[in-house]
Amino acid sequence: MALKIWLNGKLVDEADARVSVFDHALLYGDGVFEGIRIYNGRVFELEAHLRRLYESAKAIRLEMSMDKIELAGAIKQTVEANGIVDGYIRLVVTRGAGTLGLNPFICKDGSLFIIADRIQLYPEELYETGMKVVSATTVRNHPLAIPPQVKSLNYLNSILAKIEALDNDVPEAIMYNHEGYVAEATADNVFIVRDGVIYTPPVEAGALEGITRNVVIRLAREENLEVVEKNLTRCDLYICDEFFLTGTAAEVIGIVEIDGRVIGDGRPGLITKLLRERFEYAHGNRK
Ligand code: PMP
Repeated sequence: MALKIWLNGKLVDEADARVSVFDHALLYGDGVFEGIRIYNGRVFELEAHLRRLYESAKAIRLEMSMDKIELAGAIKQTVEANGIVDGYIRLVVTRGAGTLGLNPFICKDGSLFIIADRIQLYPEELYETGMKVVSATTVRNHPLAIPPQVKSLNYLNSILAKIEALDNDVPEAIMYNHEGYVAEATADNVFIVRDGVIYTPPVEAGALEGITRNVVIRLAREENLEVVEKNLTRCDLYICDEFFLTGTAAEVIGIVEIDGRVIGDGRPGLITKLLRERFEYAHGNRK
């Protein structure tokens, strides 16, 4: 069935949801976005996602055409119109149609659109067996380049790393920053466990401040597990006891091999499994 897309204030058929070829989002990747989950008909962590969206927009001097309450209403309307109970929302804000030059301030009629659809997760068995990853040679954006904290429409940095993963027949790559410390995966945050303590790189290492990351840190602390945000080296990943990624689409997924080094006993670890279970309770979709 064709989807109804929320586009600039109206729900339109998928085939009619169009933006200009002069939109700088298309010409230059100039815009911001969010990916949000719907569990049991409820939008998960909506406030946190809206906050990040408005912060991303502010950072690139993109003015939002509506406030957070109006936008929350538009999201609800889109989810309901498409009858999505469990799914994924893609919220995109474009700079708008301009000239072929870079100047963003002469762009007019920036578009805001919302797609609510079902979601293709990693295959279920990957959550049982765990996933293999490689280290990317592509360095995470420098904080003075496209800030990794901004969820911009320019994902080429991550895409180049993703290509490296796929060339190596694994689904994901780990990205390092310009100083050689772990930043994040191409669209997920990184966690490891060593001697029962959970470690994750700080946001300033070049990670997006993941909503799932923050939820998982909270859940771990509620379980009286110690969580430390600190710089991690590639070697820290090689010698850890457990390794997992977090993200809106991936949720919590165990990593069992990196660059040919097997993690732990080659299966997702106990803390990884516990946090995955806690996360399922948190979003209310525990089966
Ligand atoms: N890092 C990047 C680069 C991402 O695109 C995402 C996905 N939005 C994440 C991390 C994970 O963030 P979240 O948990 O908010 O989905």
